[in-house]
Amino acid sequence: MIYGIFSDVHGNLEALNAVLGLLREKNTAHYLYAGDIVGYGPNPNECVDAIRNLSPLSICAGNHDRAACGLKEVTWFNEYARKAIQWTSKVLTQDHQIYLSELSKTVQLPDFTIVHGSPRDPLDEYLLMRDQYEENIPHLKADITVVGHTHVPLIFGCGPKYALKDSAPVLLEPGKRYILNPGSCGQPRDSNNKASCALFDSENRRLELFRLEYDIIKTQEKMRGFKLPAYLIDRLSWGN
Ligand code: ZN
Repeated sequence: MIYGIFSDVHGNLEALNAVLGLLREKNTAHYLYAGDIVGYGPNPNECVDAIRNLSPLSICAGNHDRAACGLKEVTWFNEYARKAIQWTSKVLTQDHQIYLSELSKTVQLPDFTIVHGSPRDPLDEYLLMRDQYEENIPHLKADITVVGHTHVPLIFGCGPKYALKDSAPVLLEPGKRYILNPGSCGQPRDSNNKASCALFDSENRRLELFRLEYDIIKTQEKMRGFKLPAYLIDRLSWGN
């Protein structure tokens, strides 16, 4: 079975279309999504629409999704994220707010757990260091835990090297415990501005990361039109 794994679209429709195009072309049989459909980008409604209509889809809530529907305080967000989430809440339809508010923080499947942050802190932990992976091991409930939130593609459980690169597929051993971050579709932060997503083939246990070009300028023009913060517009070009 082919799993299409992605996260952190953040209202970026051009990046989402690039990723969904690839996942469809590769015959994805089940979509796994690790949260933050909205926040930052100019097309929150279109992105919620496209993602909620994927089938079958297993999806958890992200911190921006919760904030956009009033379930999470925005006081601790930085000023750019806060401005974007306030704009997002204003434009998001009520139906989409209800959809986001009903997403679970943790999704448990037989072979996967899906959380936005980490198993021990599903909404908020930024899982970037090996020590954090080790501290999370007692909380792992499936061979593969999918996370998002950091916007950096990583895999923990494969030894000391954990950056995930698009030119280097990884074979996952059955019975071992991995934490996988497919990177961010709509706002990458690993000095690579291409949209990120991953495919996992459960038959041969092959995990592959993909980085995809999309029309960044079109997304940025829309953000400018909605007067979203300049820093959020510029960082799409930097991929950071
Ligand atoms: Zn995010």
